[in-house]
Amino acid sequence: MAPKIRVRFAPSPTGPLHIGGIRTALFNYLYAKKQGGDFILRIEDTDQNRYVEGAEQYIIDSLEWCGLPFDEGPGKDGGFGPYRQSERKHLYRQYATELVEKGKAYYAFDTSDKLDFHRKEHEAKGKTFIYNWHNRLKLDNSLSMSPEALQERLDDGSDYVIRFLTPQDEKLFLKDRIRGLIEIDTNILDDKVLFKSDGMPTYHLANIVDDHLMQITHVIRGEEWLPSLALHQQLYDAFGWNAPNFAHLPLIMKPVGKGKLSKRDGEKMGFPIFPLSWNDSNGYREAGYFPEAVINFLALLGWNPGTEQEIFSMEELLNAFSLDRVNKSGARFDPDKTKWYNQYYLQQKDDSDLARMFGPILVDKAILPNLRKGEYVKSVVSLVKERATFVSDLWELSSYFFLAPSSYDDKAVRKQWKEDTPMLMDQLVSVLASIGNFSSENVETEVKSWIADRGLSFGKIMPPLRLVIVGAMKGPHLFDIMGLIGKEESTARINSAISTLGAHS
Ligand code: GLU
Repeated sequence: MAPKIRVRFAPSPTGPLHIGGIRTALFNYLYAKKQGGDFILRIEDTDQNRYVEGAEQYIIDSLEWCGLPFDEGPGKDGGFGPYRQSERKHLYRQYATELVEKGKAYYAFDTSDKLDFHRKEHEAKGKTFIYNWHNRLKLDNSLSMSPEALQERLDDGSDYVIRFLTPQDEKLFLKDRIRGLIEIDTNILDDKVLFKSDGMPTYHLANIVDDHLMQITHVIRGEEWLPSLALHQQLYDAFGWNAPNFAHLPLIMKPVGKGKLSKRDGEKMGFPIFPLSWNDSNGYREAGYFPEAVINFLALLGWNPGTEQEIFSMEELLNAFSLDRVNKSGARFDPDKTKWYNQYYLQQKDDSDLARMFGPILVDKAILPNLRKGEYVKSVVSLVKERATFVSDLWELSSYFFLAPSSYDDKAVRKQWKEDTPMLMDQLVSVLASIGNFSSENVETEVKSWIADRGLSFGKIMPPLRLVIVGAMKGPHLFDIMGLIGKEESTARINSAISTLGAHS
């Protein structure tokens, strides 16, 4: 039987998650869940200098908001914990030492000043300093000193790091599910630090040890980690462990121009870059996006179903997703498309749900409780939602259902308010007064037959009527609006326009 699929999302708590991180989490989640596997959250916090307070909770909250629950992770032990690398600190040294004993790694005592000096010296000659086969024997490490000298250095407590001993003149063949076979010449690689002088492992060592101990079967992560694959594969080989399968996801690219999507692009073009707000940066949640819209647009950033289908629920994604349909090339981020998705999902919502979400905005606008009643708001929402992308658009689209116009669109007044309009509106008030059941249909029938009986044109009545009811030439079917705001309010608005606009022409 094939081992159970186990994938992990392994962010570093160095700040808020970029939505690219959520895309990585999503692809991991889909891959595992489609096959009944486990989705694990591991917090990679070995770099204490970059640790940011609150970032871990932010990651957890973001996954929850997006609907990507983890099976194992901080606070949810599945027998492979702890899931924070800082709490696994005691584990790593023995693995680094094991590699030294196997001749696959070595101690290096070079001070940072010394390394800086080498770097600068190389730079001055237009070269790059790489710590590897061609200079390691000239540097201050266990390969270039006698066993006695080494013992002395270790005994006197000198600071050291442990570096990987990259083999010379070898060809590596790395397998990636998305990119196929990648050939690498080991001579271009540097001897990466595995274990730091502060007693902490580097990302590379901790990542490999933990993926092994946590029995991870598939490593699905961003393309920016592809350059680390050569080292990671060599580390698995050096330990004699089976490596997991690797899949490096394509970068998410800027909406325009070259390069990968950054926080700056979001700031410049006015779209969120984080799932949830973080300090001054607005998140997708706070900007009014629905999590299902975010998931849907992220799924199509780098993956395609091979069909024209664009709308996917999580359920449908779980059925359709496969790593075989993940592209190699970068996926361009399209902020307009994210809005298109949100508009789509907003239209799918129940009017009562939308009314509930709209409620706080109405409170904020100081709308009186009798106008905030569920049924009324629900009817308003059903009339205007078609044009809404976000719940917050509903106010702009429907304020006149809650507040009588306090002014009238100038241009429309000039065009629609004729000399005889006040007189006609006055007559219309009497027509409306005689209507018993003030439903949209009844109002429409009565008003139309009055227009016909008087031999008037529609154009003489309907546009000024809309102007006085709404305040501008906009909105849904006018009789629907009148039916909803009711007889009293409709007549009050007409009367108040007659007195405000008077005989203006
Ligand atoms: N800690 C790395 C990150 O912040 C994890 C990379 C990986 O998945 O191996 O993205």
